[in-house]
Amino acid sequence: MLDKVLIANRGEIALRILRACKELGIKTVAVHSTADESLKHVLLADETICIGKPSATESYLNIPRIIAAAEVTNSVAIHPGYGFLAENADFAEAVERSGFIFIGPKAETINLMGDKVSAIKSMKAAGVPCVPGSDGPLNDDEARNKKLAKEIGYPIIVKAAGGGGGRGMRVVRNEAELIGSIAATKGEAAAAFNNDVVYMEKFLENPRHVEIQVLADGQGNAIHLGERDCSMQRRHQKVVEEAPAPGISEEMRAKIGARCCQACIDIGYRGAGTFEFLFENDEFYFIEMNTRIQVEHPVSEMITGVDLIKEQLRIADGQKLSISQDQIQVRGHAIECRINAEDPDTFIPSPGKINMFHPPGGLGVRWDSHIYAGYSVPPNYDSMIGKLITYGETREVAIARMQHALGELVIEGIKTNIPLQQRIMADEAFAAGGANIHYLEKKLGLGGH
Ligand code: ADP
Repeated sequence: MLDKVLIANRGEIALRILRACKELGIKTVAVHSTADESLKHVLLADETICIGKPSATESYLNIPRIIAAAEVTNSVAIHPGYGFLAENADFAEAVERSGFIFIGPKAETINLMGDKVSAIKSMKAAGVPCVPGSDGPLNDDEARNKKLAKEIGYPIIVKAAGGGGGRGMRVVRNEAELIGSIAATKGEAAAAFNNDVVYMEKFLENPRHVEIQVLADGQGNAIHLGERDCSMQRRHQKVVEEAPAPGISEEMRAKIGARCCQACIDIGYRGAGTFEFLFENDEFYFIEMNTRIQVEHPVSEMITGVDLIKEQLRIADGQKLSISQDQIQVRGHAIECRINAEDPDTFIPSPGKINMFHPPGGLGVRWDSHIYAGYSVPPNYDSMIGKLITYGETREVAIARMQHALGELVIEGIKTNIPLQQRIMADEAFAAGGANIHYLEKKLGLGGH
C-alpha cells in the first residue's frame, strides 16, 4: 500500500482523506496556509508543512510549493480532494512528472473531460445519452448557427467549452437573441476561462440533476455505485443531496450505470468520477463529468457500504477494483445537508470563531466536518464547514433523522444555514421527492430561471 500521502486540500475533505489513510495504515502529510494552522486534520496529520499565505493562489493553488512539500516529506502520492487543483491537468501532470502518484485520473483524461465539447464527443461515442446540441464548437457563420438552433429547437443554451462553476452559459429563447448571445458568451468565456470556444444545446426547462458515481481502476474494470439526486440548488450550488434518486427504477439505474462504466473503459478512466446528467421525462442527458471525488460522495457510501476514498487510495496504489458490480447493492436511503457558515436569509458568508459546538449523533447520523469549539472559520475560503448525512431504511426515515439531527446540531458564534436546511426538510415538495433544479430558488423567492 502507498507509504505516505500528501493531502493537497483543507477543511472537511482533508480530514475525510486523513481518516481513510489512517484506516489503511498510510502516513499523512498536511499542507496548509498560514490561516489554517489549527485545522483539525493539520493537528492530526503525521507531518505538516505551511505552504504560504491565506490567499489560495499563495497556498492551495500553488503547484510548485505543493510539489516541494511532497519532495521534502518523501510523500509517494498526492490527493487533491475537490476544488482547488483537483481538476487541474497541469497539476496532475506536474505531480507525475515529479515522480509522485496523482490520486485521480491521468492528466489527459482531465483535459478530455475538462473541455465540454470533447467530453460530449467522447460520451456520445461511448453511447452515453447527451443533450441534443451542436455536436461541436460554434463558428462565426451566423446562418449556420441560426440553422443549428432552429434544428435543436428553442429555447437553447449557449455554453462555454471551458466553463465551470455554473458560469459561462446563456439561455436563448428566440432567434433575435441568438447572435448577440453567442458573442456575449464567447467574450465572457475568453475572459473567464481563457478559451472562447462555445457550443449550444437544447435548454431543458424543468430537469432534475441526477448523477452517477463510478469507480474505475484504469486496468479495464469499472463499476457504478448508483445515482444521487442533487436538484436542491441555489445559484447552481448544491444545497442538499440524496441517494438513491427518488423514482429511479433498478432497471433505469442499471442501464445508465452500465453506459457510464463502458465510457470509463473506453476513455481509460482511473479513479473515482461522476457523470452528471439532467433528468427530464424519465430520460438522462449527460452534461459533464467530474474527474474527482465530490462533496456529496458520502450519500453513495451510505447506500452501498463502499468507502470511496479508500477505493481511490487502492486504485492509486495500482490495485485492481476490490469489488465487482454484482457486489454493489443499493440499500436504504441517505441524505446530505451542506452546512455553511453564512446568513440563512442573505447567504452572506459568516466567518469567525465558533464559541459553542455540539455535534448530532445517534443511529444513522454521520457528521463529516473539521470544526470544533474554539475553532475560527477563516474568511478566505468556501463557506462550507461540514456535511450532515443521515441514513435510514427508507427516505422517510432518513428525513426524520435529518430533522432531529439538525435540531441537535449547535454551532454558536457564527451564522449558519441550519435554519434553511430545517425549512427544506420540512418542505412538502421535498418530502414528496423529485423536485426540479429550480424548485429551491422559487421557494426562496429568488425566481429561478
Ligand atoms: P458547470 O460546469 O458550470 O457546473 P454544467 O454543464 O454542469 O456547468 O451546468 C451547470 C448547470 O447549468 C446545470 O446543473 C443546470 O442547472 C444548468 N444547465 C446546463 N446545461 C443545461 C441545459 N442544456 N438545459 C437546462 N439547464 C442546463
